[in-house]
Amino acid sequence: MDAFDIRLDGMRIENLRRRELLRIAGLAGVGVAAGSLFGGAAAAFAGPDAPAAKPSPYKTKHVVLLAFAGGVRAREVIGSPQNAPNLTRIGNRGCVLPYVRAANLGHYGAALAIFTGCSEAKGIRENARGDNPTIFEYLRKDAGLPADQVWLSTTAGAQTINFSYSTSADYGGKYGANLISTDGLFNAEFRNLITSFGNVSLPSDKEAREVADLAKALDPKFLDGVKDRSFANDPEASLRIQRYILEELKGDTADLTGPGAGDAKAIRVARNLLRLFKPKVTAIVLQNADVAHGSFNSYVDVIRRNDQEVGLLWQSIQQDPELKDSTTLFVLPEFGRDHDLNDRNGLDHGDGSDDLHRIFCIASGPDFKQGKTLTGAADSIDVCPTIAELLGTKSPDAKGKSMKQLFA
Ligand SMILES: [Zn+2]
Repeated sequence: MDAFDIRLDGMRIENLRRRELLRIAGLAGVGVAAGSLFGGAAAAFAGPDAPAAKPSPYKTKHVVLLAFAGGVRAREVIGSPQNAPNLTRIGNRGCVLPYVRAANLGHYGAALAIFTGCSEAKGIRENARGDNPTIFEYLRKDAGLPADQVWLSTTAGAQTINFSYSTSADYGGKYGANLISTDGLFNAEFRNLITSFGNVSLPSDKEAREVADLAKALDPKFLDGVKDRSFANDPEASLRIQRYILEELKGDTADLTGPGAGDAKAIRVARNLLRLFKPKVTAIVLQNADVAHGSFNSYVDVIRRNDQEVGLLWQSIQQDPELKDSTTLFVLPEFGRDHDLNDRNGLDHGDGSDDLHRIFCIASGPDFKQGKTLTGAADSIDVCPTIAELLGTKSPDAKGKSMKQLFA
């Protein structure tokens, strides 16, 4: 990218992004996809790369989409307020939909369906991107959102990279979400790089200096003598990115350990993102609840822990004057789990029961009804078109439809 053809101590920032940022990110326990953080920065500096769509008639200016995935039954969440006091509270203020249909397409296909609004066929290989554009791509291309406005925070795994954009020829990578995966795994190249840095630890003096250099590189006042300064027209965005990197480094998520830590980190990272960038769209994909295959009790522990983190996320939205009355939150799993325990006292997913196919969705925001349980039918593929509508655009390839029953 030409905008980044600048040199810092003889090193192109392009290279910095690949090597030093990944080193730093690896230390902080987060990974930053190639072209993501700095790709986002480029767009933030350069402004939107698509003409702005006509403004949405709705009050919603920010959307948080939490795929409470890993296979979670409604009965352990909306049916058990003691497991999920925070989600219960959020639902009580907004809408709870107890009859949302979800197809059993495997964890990956079913979670992808939330983002594309299409039932993603089982034929999709687990490590391949989908063909159907994601909500991120619709918003980036058709609603003209710049890259720094669309983020995705995921728990783990090479697969999760595929949620950020599709293979669609009309959309695709250049309209993808910025991706942060809490285990830092993206592809073989980066995986090797990050493993070679070892586990989360405090940066050494040398690494701290590298962070400082990186911060300097982002600060326009250190760019004297740099030829192409077209990217350096938004010092505020530059500062936010610096702060983000530094806050992550301070180890806000490093104290999160034990079972379900990946999910907790993914939610915590999303909270940091919201606080610093106030993006239009912040999506989160969880997966630790799938521990249920081997243990029902551990599964409930993961739900409780995630509920706690969601409570903190919601609290920080409510405490932010800008986000408070302009943010809409969706929470739904990709599907549920079996009705009966397996012989390990765990829960699989495959029995075709209502517990598996009927999921909950909690939706709360300034354009939605308040304090309602909505018993009309809905489908997990309806979330993508609903978000598109809220933010003033459409999702032409989505098979679901906007959830009209939510709107006040
Ligand atoms: Zn599973």
